[in-house]
Amino acid sequence: MRIDLHTHSHRSDGTDSPAELLENAVAAGLDVLALTDHDTTAGWPEAAAAVPEGLRVVPGAEFSCESETGRGGTCTVHLLGYLFDAEAPAIVAEQGRLRAQRRERVDRMARLMRADGYPVDPDTLMAELPPDAPAGRPHLARALIGAGVVATVDEAFRLFLHSRGRYHVAKRDTPVREAIAMVHAAGGVCVLAHPFAVTRGPTVTREVVAALAEAGLDGVEVDHPDHAEPERTDLRALARAHGLLMTGSSDYHGENKVNRLGQETTSPEMFERLLAMGTGAKVIER
Ligand code: AMP
Ligand code: FE
Ligand code: FE
Ligand code: ZN
Repeated sequence: MRIDLHTHSHRSDGTDSPAELLENAVAAGLDVLALTDHDTTAGWPEAAAAVPEGLRVVPGAEFSCESETGRGGTCTVHLLGYLFDAEAPAIVAEQGRLRAQRRERVDRMARLMRADGYPVDPDTLMAELPPDAPAGRPHLARALIGAGVVATVDEAFRLFLHSRGRYHVAKRDTPVREAIAMVHAAGGVCVLAHPFAVTRGPTVTREVVAALAEAGLDGVEVDHPDHAEPERTDLRALARAHGLLMTGSSDYHGENKVNRLGQETTSPEMFERLLAMGTGAKVIER
């Protein structure tokens, strides 16, 4: 059984529609796929309408959160929520707030770049995004490719959009303990996404992961393309010490990233444990 528990559609910053994503999952030989768009569940109904025979789809989302780093200071962390009730009022409100934040922030980043003479038009960029879509830096990266400023999304991040860059604008993410409580209250399961992806910016320490486990975190994403072997080893030890689920996933974003579907996978035992814990939504299957 091949299980990939972290993927994005064009409802956030991927490039496949939910239906295309499921087709590509079948083509990649997957039996289970989780749809985890950033700060939205808008792709769930489309996934439910398109689910092919033989594929099981786990409804989920990747929540933008803020945490202490454990080194003095804060950083962004991503929390994967699975099988939660998408209509829980707290989740509807918080995801809506974050999508509004995201729009404002991408618009501000585009304006900063235009003020420096780069040929990006913030108004066109924002007008082309669906009104309630979770805008992200990959959308600005696409605009920069369109304007001939860079050739790839990765180049846009390296030159302009990375979190330490002069055009980066922070958004107000959800305090991670509040997000864990919110997902649990909606019957969901919480897995910390790519906790030690050091190339993305500041990350949390082992002590913070341990503290989040005490605060109710259910699992950690161990096998992720942005983790090298030492980080995976560390996370496995932490997961064993704190009884956390261990997942493996591709973080596929279609053409916006080099990650391939099924590049990293989750064991059937871990998947069964996760399924048994989620009570707010059902796995989607034909
Ligand atoms: P944002 O959600 O606006 O903070 O942007 C972060 C998103 O950008 C992540 O979820 C990734 O999908 C994407 N991203 C980050 N770094 C890169 C990169 N080097 N190449 C392509 N996509 C990236
Ligand atoms: Fe993304
Ligand atoms: Fe992420
Ligand atoms: Zn992701």
